[in-house]
Amino acid sequence: MYFDVLVIGAGPAGLVFSAMAADIGLKVGLFDRQSKDGLAKPKNDGRDIAVSERSRKIMYGLGAWQKIDPTKISPIRDAKVMDGDAPFALHFNPQSAGADRLGNIVSNHLIRKALYEVAAKKPNITLFTDAQVAGLTRTASTATVRLEDGSVFTGQLAIAADTRFSQIRRDAGIKANMHDFGQTMIVGRMAHTKPHNHTAYELFRYDGGMAVLPLNGNTSSIVQTFCAQEAARFMAMSDKDYARATEPRLAGLVGELKCIGKRVAYPLVGVYGKAFYAQRLALIGDAAVGMHPVTAHGFNFGIQGVANLIKHLSHTHNAGLDLGGAQALRAYNKDHRRLTWPLYQMTEKMMGLYTNNTAPARLARKAVLHSANIMTPAKDLLMARLADMPVAKLLADKLPPPPRLPRF
Ligand SMILES: Cc1cc2nc3c(=O)[nH]c(=O)nc-3n(C[C@H](O)[C@H](O)[C@H](O)COP(=O)(O)OP(=O)(O)OC[C@H]3O[C@@H](n4cnc5c(N)ncnc54)[C@H](O)[C@@H]3O)c2cc1C
Repeated sequence: MYFDVLVIGAGPAGLVFSAMAADIGLKVGLFDRQSKDGLAKPKNDGRDIAVSERSRKIMYGLGAWQKIDPTKISPIRDAKVMDGDAPFALHFNPQSAGADRLGNIVSNHLIRKALYEVAAKKPNITLFTDAQVAGLTRTASTATVRLEDGSVFTGQLAIAADTRFSQIRRDAGIKANMHDFGQTMIVGRMAHTKPHNHTAYELFRYDGGMAVLPLNGNTSSIVQTFCAQEAARFMAMSDKDYARATEPRLAGLVGELKCIGKRVAYPLVGVYGKAFYAQRLALIGDAAVGMHPVTAHGFNFGIQGVANLIKHLSHTHNAGLDLGGAQALRAYNKDHRRLTWPLYQMTEKMMGLYTNNTAPARLARKAVLHSANIMTPAKDLLMARLADMPVAKLLADKLPPPPRLPRF
């Protein structure tokens, strides 16, 4: 069977890519090892995703955002980053720059479901479920996917959207910078007695980070990071004990806690591909850049990268050129690196500082948080990316006035 593009992985990135590729007239073969039911009715995986304004617009353009029940979407009006229990907070206030929110929180399984419904309706997409891709062969003129059951599919271009531990990336010999943070993140929904006022909190505690992601009503997604051993201890607790053990770690920020959802643990590994393309192959989503969840950017970068790749492929397609040619892939690689590298690097450095509990690291942490000069560009970069505001405008407002030149 022949397709224009062969997409490996029907997660958010693979689904968005397939839907957009179908919209520009390409014939897509989409492969996922999950069952049809698993993709159509994804199970709750505990992840609540902070969807940036730009990603929301992309999902809206595809007709996916409208498929999400509005009562399941919760706005983030502002965000505060705190160092331990210290009262000082770095405040992200989008209203100060004319935006009404930093983004919206939506469950990952609802995002996947909405995107699946959009992709499943496109006549140009053929979806293969229970389809474990066993290998990809690339030549000067074709890309060929081989499934575990022996079936073979050929196309002009292959797209790897097969998680941050992408086998396709590895088989293609593309190296990746992998950073094991040596930490495990536990996520789970909780009800609480005090309101959050739709403020997201990030607390850099000395014994591991925490986040409060505001959901509708007096409920939040509570995120905590620990070393693996401590995470196992917290995962083994009853709901009641878990709530009691979590309360003091939040220092009363949202009052008393009660578990209202299942807890899920994720080991934290950051991944950055040394290249996002090879002959007749492009990496998208986590297969290209697997972000630490702290900056809420994995999904967001993934679908923005897809929109960018589609723009380049669309030019190639309209010009009647080879989709697997290097020009479009090289342009995507350049644009996506420019978009992702500054924040990826910043996150690595920040997490290095915040997962080190030595006295000098604690001092450095306080200095960084208090030093507006150092944090302002990083803070503005993050805020601009989430609320879809021009970074240049934010920075221009804070630049000193130009020096007066002497008149001759
Ligand atoms: C706790 C947590 C919180 C997060 N919060 C945020 C947030 O707030 N904001 C944000 O932007 N991002 C967030 N992220 C990141 C976000 O969830 C990911 O970036 C996103 O899900 C990646 O999508 P993807 O399509 O690239 O990969 P995945 O969702 O991993 O999908 C990959 C797909 O490929 C399939 N597959 C893999 N190998 C094969 C194979 N060989 N053959 C066939 N199929 C295969 C899998 O079955 C799967 O369906 C968070 C992540 C975590 C863990």
